Amino acid sequence: MAELSTDLQALHGIGSRRAQLFRKMGLATLGDLLTWFPRRYEDRRTVKEIAALSDGETVCVRGFVAAPPTVTRVRDGLDLVQVPVADRSGVLRVTFFNQLWMKAALSPGTEYVLYGKVERNLFGCSMSNPVTERADSPSETGRIWPIYPASAGVSQRMLCWAVREALRICGGSIPEFLPEEVRHTYQLCPVKAAYENIHFPADDTALQEARRRLAFEELFLLAVGLQSVRQQRQSDAVEAFADADMSPFYNALPFTLTDAQRRCIAEAFADMRSGVPMNRLCQGDVGSGKTMVAAACVYYCVQNACQAALMVPTELLARQHYDSLSALLTPLGVRVALLTGSVSAKDKRDIRQRVAAHEVDFVIGTHALISDGVEFENLGLVVTDEQHRFGVAQRGALNAKGRQPHVLVMSATPIPRTLALSVYGDLDVSILDELPPGRQKILTYAVSGDYRPRVYGFLEKQMAAGRQVYIVCPMVEEGAAVSDDRKAVTEYASELEKVFPERRILSVHGRMKSKDKERIMSAFAAGDGDILISTTVIEVGIDVPNASVMVVENAERFGLSQLHQLRGRVGRGKHQSYCILISDSRADETRQRLRVMVTTSDGFRVAEEDLRLRGPGDFFGERQHGLPPLKIANLFTDTELLREARTAAAELSPERYPATVKRAAELLSQGATA
Ligand code: ADP
Ligand code: MG
Repeated sequence: MAELSTDLQALHGIGSRRAQLFRKMGLATLGDLLTWFPRRYEDRRTVKEIAALSDGETVCVRGFVAAPPTVTRVRDGLDLVQVPVADRSGVLRVTFFNQLWMKAALSPGTEYVLYGKVERNLFGCSMSNPVTERADSPSETGRIWPIYPASAGVSQRMLCWAVREALRICGGSIPEFLPEEVRHTYQLCPVKAAYENIHFPADDTALQEARRRLAFEELFLLAVGLQSVRQQRQSDAVEAFADADMSPFYNALPFTLTDAQRRCIAEAFADMRSGVPMNRLCQGDVGSGKTMVAAACVYYCVQNACQAALMVPTELLARQHYDSLSALLTPLGVRVALLTGSVSAKDKRDIRQRVAAHEVDFVIGTHALISDGVEFENLGLVVTDEQHRFGVAQRGALNAKGRQPHVLVMSATPIPRTLALSVYGDLDVSILDELPPGRQKILTYAVSGDYRPRVYGFLEKQMAAGRQVYIVCPMVEEGAAVSDDRKAVTEYASELEKVFPERRILSVHGRMKSKDKERIMSAFAAGDGDILISTTVIEVGIDVPNASVMVVENAERFGLSQLHQLRGRVGRGKHQSYCILISDSRADETRQRLRVMVTTSDGFRVAEEDLRLRGPGDFFGERQHGLPPLKIANLFTDTELLREARTAAAELSPERYPATVKRAAELLSQGATA
C-alpha cells in the first residue's frame, strides 16, 4: 500500500513529463491528489427519453447508434463526427467536434449512454460533445461525477483518473486525525469513506457526510493548532508592566484620542500589566488611527525600561512609520531606529549593536528584523502592522527573540468579531470602530467606461491643482493560476501617456522586484509623479496625503473589501478626495456591489455586504490572513461546524493525541509562508 507522501509517478501512466505538469498545479504526491477536491459535481444520474428532452437541460440519454457515424471536414482544424442515436421515443443528433476517434468508437446497433446538454428546436434534439460510454459498462455516467479544477496541461479526465488511482492504492493509509470520541460525538464518518465520497460520491447523503467530516477536520486541526500556540504563550509568565506616567505622550499628540483608541489602549495596557504575555489584535478601518494605539503601547513599554519593535510588510511603510513616530517619540526621550533590507550592511551592523546594547528603545523595520537575526537586550513588545501579510509562525519567529514579548497585531481588514476570534484564534481582539472626528467623506462614484473622457478631464483638473492620482487596473488573467499584471499595467500606461503627455506617469506591477517597486512608490510619495498606475500593490498602507483621486478600472473584478482598502489610500490629507469605480459590467450583482461602495464608507458594513453579496470565497481576497489555506471548510458559511470544531478542540487532551497535535502544528506553519 502506497503512502500519501508517495510521488505521483508511482501511478502507472504518469511519467516524469506528466508529473511535471501536475507539479505546476501544486500536485506532487498522492496525498496532494486526494486533497485536490472537486470544484463542483455533475449529477449524471437522470436518464430521459429523447422525446421528453427539453432545450437547455443537461441529462443522460440511453440509446442505440442508429447509423454509422459520418465525418465532415468543415475546414482545416475543424472536423465533425456526426451520428444519430435512437431510443424508442425518438432520435438524437449527436456531434463531436475534433474527436475523430469517435467514428471508430461508436458501432451501430450498440447501446450507449450519452451525458450532455440538450439543444432542442423545430428540427429535433441534438447534443454536442456528450460524455459517451457503452451502456453495459458505465463508469462516468449514472452517478454523481466530480469536476476538478484542471489546467491546460492536465485535463479534467486525467485528474479524475489520477485521483481514483490514488484512492485505490493509498486509500487505506490515510491517517485518521479525529479521535474516535470526537467522531462519535459529532457523528462524523471515517476518514477513508470521507475521501472516497468527496471524490466519487455514492449518493447525495454520502457526499454531504464526506464534506462535513472533512470540513470539520480542517477546522478542528486549525483550532487545535491555534489553541496550542495560545496555551504555550499563556504558560509563559512575564514580568507585569508597572503603571507609568503617560501624560507626556498624550500631551505631545496634536489631537485628542478617539474613545475607540482610548478603549483599545486600555485593553492593551491591562494585558501588559497582567503577567501573561499580551497577544492582541487591534482591528480597525483604514484611517481609524491604529498607529497611535501602537505608539501608546510602545511608549508604555519603554517607560517600563523595555524595548519595542514594529514590523511592517514594506520598506516604504517602515520609513513612513519611522518618520512620523520618531517625530513624536524622539522628543519624549525614546531612541528610535529604522532597520530595513536597504540599510547598508555597515549601518545594519551598527544598529544591531545598539539594539543589543539597549541604546535603542524602539526599532521599526521589515522582515529584515527577523532575517538579520537582531538580538534585543530586553524586548518587551512586538507590534506588527497590516498583519495579514505575516503568518502566525512569522510572528512567532520575532517573538522568540525576546524572552516572551507582548504582541500587538494591527489589521485593517474589518471582520466581524465572532469571525475574528476563529480566524485569529490565538489572539484577543480589540476593535477600533470609530474614525477621528472631522474626517471628510471620500466621494465615491461608479461609472461605466463611456465616462472615461470625463474622468480624464477631472483627473487633469485635480493634477492642475497639484494633486496626485492613483489608477488601479486588475491583473490580466491567463489561465487559472498565472496572471500577468505587467502587461495590463504597461499597456494602460502607454494609453495614458497619450492622454496626459505633460504628466509624469509612474507604474508598478507585481512582477517587479520589490526594491524597484518601493523605489517608484517612494518617488510617488515624495511628489515625483502625478499618476501612479498599479495593480493592487498599493493596497498596503502607504500614505500620500497629497493624493486625492483613486480610479479603479474593471472595478467588478475586485472584492468590496479590497475596493474599500484601495479607497482608503486617498482622503489622507486635507484635500477633498474621490474614488471613481469604472465598470462596464451590467450584471445586477456588480451594480449592487458598487452601489454599496457609493453609499457607505464604513469598512465593517462594506465587509458585511461583501460577505452577503459575494460569498466568503472572495472575502479575504488572496490568503491574507496568515492562516493555512482552507481547502474545503468555509469560515463564513460553516459557522455551526466551526463552533463544534472549536468545542471539540477545547476538550481534546493533547497528550493522548500527539499525532493530531503535530499535524495541527504542521498545518499552521504552512500558513506562515503564504
Ligand atoms: P490606520 O488605522 O489606517 O493605520 P493611521 O494610524 O495611519 O490610521 O491614522 C490615520 C491618520 O489619522 C493619521 O494621519 C493620524 O495622525 C490621524 N489620527 C490618528 N488618530 C487621530 C485622532 N484621534 N484625531 C485626529 N487624527 C488622528
Ligand atoms: Mg496603518
